[in-house]
Amino acid sequence: ATAAIGVTGLGVMGRNLARNFARNGYTVAVHNRTAGRTRALVEEFGHEGAFVPAESAADFVAALERPRRLMIMVQAGAVTDAVIEEFAPLLEPGDMIIDGGNAHYADTRRREESLRERGLHFVGAGVSGGEEGALNGPAVMVGGSSESYDVLGPMFESISAKVDGEPCATHIGTDGAGHFVKMVHNGIEYADMQLIAEAYDLLRQVAGYTPAEIAGIFRTWNEGRLGSYLIEITAEVLAHTDAATGRAFVDVVADAAGQKGTGRWTVQTALDLGSPVTAIAQATFARAASGQRELRAAYAGLPGGTTPPLSRTEATRFTSQVEHALYASKVIAYDQGWKMIQDAAGEFGWKIDLGAVARIWRGGCIIRASFLDRIRAAYAADPDLVSLLGEMEFAMEITDAQVPWRETVASAARRGIPVPAFSAALAHYDTLRAERLPAALLQGQRDYFGAHTYGRTDRPGAFHTHWAEPGRPETSA
Ligand code: NDP
Repeated sequence: ATAAIGVTGLGVMGRNLARNFARNGYTVAVHNRTAGRTRALVEEFGHEGAFVPAESAADFVAALERPRRLMIMVQAGAVTDAVIEEFAPLLEPGDMIIDGGNAHYADTRRREESLRERGLHFVGAGVSGGEEGALNGPAVMVGGSSESYDVLGPMFESISAKVDGEPCATHIGTDGAGHFVKMVHNGIEYADMQLIAEAYDLLRQVAGYTPAEIAGIFRTWNEGRLGSYLIEITAEVLAHTDAATGRAFVDVVADAAGQKGTGRWTVQTALDLGSPVTAIAQATFARAASGQRELRAAYAGLPGGTTPPLSRTEATRFTSQVEHALYASKVIAYDQGWKMIQDAAGEFGWKIDLGAVARIWRGGCIIRASFLDRIRAAYAADPDLVSLLGEMEFAMEITDAQVPWRETVASAARRGIPVPAFSAALAHYDTLRAERLPAALLQGQRDYFGAHTYGRTDRPGAFHTHWAEPGRPETSA
């Protein structure tokens, strides 16, 4: 046995990860259900490094050095379970199965527990960066035991993206923590994309700019604090002309957004945890709503707001407002994601270094941005930071954004342009800063119809008012 790692499932991702390991000097055993893919990989890329092709499961396992490291790159769900069951019986105590697919963290927790009972390490590893990242440097969010990370860590760190010489891979926490954090990454990605899309829509409809002009605005923003992979590709997409029609590409694309499910998982999980990730939720629902063609057709033409078109000077001013609104909303959306990770860590007993999460997202993944370096620094300065708004610079920026942020959301409302993510982020901010919330009234309503009891501001305890019996004193439950 000579292989430091084995990869089974040589589809788009598995093939590129295997090549990435090989290019980094690891001997890689490769296996695929359909052996043709294994042969093709070695024929085409065998010169890149040391591959050990295996056609049978037994040969594959026999090729691995002990403790064996066997990485599965197949579809999440039942396929992953089937592949685990194919290999687990061939392994010995101390061996490691790594699932690099997009598994739901709850499945990873279940699999880890059951394989642990069989003496195996099960490592759920979130791999971000798509096909290109898998080959040239993904961000890798690794779960499982710290014992397994002692062995696997150097390997993942070597194949991962690097920013300022630091690898974009780390041990997030035990069992499903890696897949959980990958899921939240995708949720934040949904929010960031929606916020950018709303900014575009406002620049288009309120300021009256063309897609090409907006591409230029995004290019400028990309040089500043909003600089990120997503802003950069947004400029590219907006500048693109459709070859068939000669029109702006964005004008010939059907306006119904797809989704593969990680945003939905984030929102579902957030509801269970009681984590208000409202910007992520609105972004996920915005995609769903965009696809409701019949409903949209039924409502099309109903009255909305109007405002006179902006002059060129006003449009320039408005653009700067939108930049503030986008930035402030982005801070809130990311803060919501980090808080959700903290909530999950409490729930599942994970010890998560929140700064390290920001550090490994600086490269390799879709939300990569210099902005994440500031989040990393904020947690480095104060590991117990409750909110990003507790950090001085972020707090100052949010203070500066107050008028333009509110003006942007107000302009959208006056003009009848939906900005669900901007609005949700602003409402979240106002919720957090409010001295009193109308939740007190909700408690009264709940006590009235359901005797659910309420707390008081002046003394401790739970109380119930006898609503149907005026004059009877409240009772303390
Ligand atoms: P592909 O569809 O390209 O490849 C799927 C692989 O799974 C193939 O090797 C296929 O083998 C194998 N497979 C399917 N069914 C079975 C089965 N029943 N038993 C054994 N092997 C099976 O998928 P990707 O590489 O795109 O994705 C792999 C995983 O990585 C997924 O979990 C995905 O969500 C995740 N991922 C994908 C990203 C992407 O950008 N594509 C990004 C990050 C994660 P065969 O050749 O025999 O059909």
